[in-house]
Amino acid sequence: MANLSPDPITISEGISYKPSNIIFMAVYSYSRLEAFKSCPLKYKLTYVDRIKRRIDGIEAFMGSRVHEVLEKLYTDLKYQKLNTLQELHSDFEARWGREWHDNIVIRKIDYTADNYFEMGRKCISDFYDRYYPFNHAMTLGLEKEVRFSLDPEGLYQMIGYIDRLDQRADGSYEIHDYKCSGRCPEQSHFDKDRQLALYQIAIDKIYTDAKEVDLVWHYLVFGKEFRSRRTSDQLETLKTDTIKLIKTIETTEEFEPSESSLCEWCDYPDLCPKQKHFFAIERLPINEYLSEPGVVLVDKLSELEKKKKAFKAGIEEEIAKVKDALVKYAESEGVSVVRGSAKKAKIKIEEVDKYPASGTKERKMLEELIELAGCLPDVSSFDLKKLAKVVESGTWGSDFVSQIKEFVVKETKSSITLSKLNDKDLILEEEIRD
Ligand code: SF4
Repeated sequence: MANLSPDPITISEGISYKPSNIIFMAVYSYSRLEAFKSCPLKYKLTYVDRIKRRIDGIEAFMGSRVHEVLEKLYTDLKYQKLNTLQELHSDFEARWGREWHDNIVIRKIDYTADNYFEMGRKCISDFYDRYYPFNHAMTLGLEKEVRFSLDPEGLYQMIGYIDRLDQRADGSYEIHDYKCSGRCPEQSHFDKDRQLALYQIAIDKIYTDAKEVDLVWHYLVFGKEFRSRRTSDQLETLKTDTIKLIKTIETTEEFEPSESSLCEWCDYPDLCPKQKHFFAIERLPINEYLSEPGVVLVDKLSELEKKKKAFKAGIEEEIAKVKDALVKYAESEGVSVVRGSAKKAKIKIEEVDKYPASGTKERKMLEELIELAGCLPDVSSFDLKKLAKVVESGTWGSDFVSQIKEFVVKETKSSITLSKLNDKDLILEEEIRD
């Protein structure tokens, strides 16, 4: 890539160019990078194909309204206006009504829009009660846009929006982020989080006095605050990792779908090979759904697989019965090979030593006996085949072997091998015929 000395100019969200050489370059955001990591296809549909959907999950809708109310709270504070909680609740209600539209989806069927409305209202109340009168620091920015590059040449550009940027009386900075998620992560999650750490890279550049920066997350549904810090080494590693990820994105040719629990919130099930069929048939009435060709074929295949399994089980049972009868026949006739019309069966019946199975009391005692005698290395930390070999080899003293053999049970084992009749067998057949 060329050296891009002048600052890039944004021509639309996510695309910039440098006037000197007119090289178009992507500007990445944390959510854009995360989209690629969670599902490359979703990334492509959103950021490359730029397919817009007018669908809002109710969680996102509620979260946006809560963010707006908290932004209003701090904006008004700048003008020395401290809202009451009732005023913020009224503002939340007004925004909720104003912004509501028909394409808001409630995916959790047990909850209604009213439940989410109350949830958002409670987020505001808990936040208000916890931080009133909101004077712990000076607010420097709200929904603050930050642009920064990850490398000195400016080849890897990032953009982000900080919910609230504060500076405390001691000079330290705080990057605040509001979350309305229904899941509350553990501290380790925040110590590894990339989003606010990326914003810290920007703050370090913008404010030269930013020596100490706290990353602060407000999990509003739980009324909890989490904090974390990054060292300059950690930020350097983050830059390198992020550049690596951007390079991966920019060299990706096939954006494959990657299924996860996030599919539930995906706006593109109708364009995704993994979800398209589900999306299509879930919209069909039950009678049409059952006659849909794909459904018919999958049902047929699953029925045949079931039959195959049952047939296989039946055949295996039949084989076991025939083998058993063949062993009995060989024993009663005193033969070890039985001739069929095209094949012959060799029957081997032998008595074998059976050592106690692992997990049994006897096995434990046997292991202890061998270990106590210091002979464990001879049997490779208790390999039964090796043990049988050593016992038969006479390496160990006869008294010790006798003690070992007390654990042995004699077992009759039979095996049958089927093979083709050979030339000799066939000559014999001809002679018999003659
Ligand atoms: S439905 Fe899932 S796999 Fe398909 S594009 Fe969306 S997130 Fe990716």
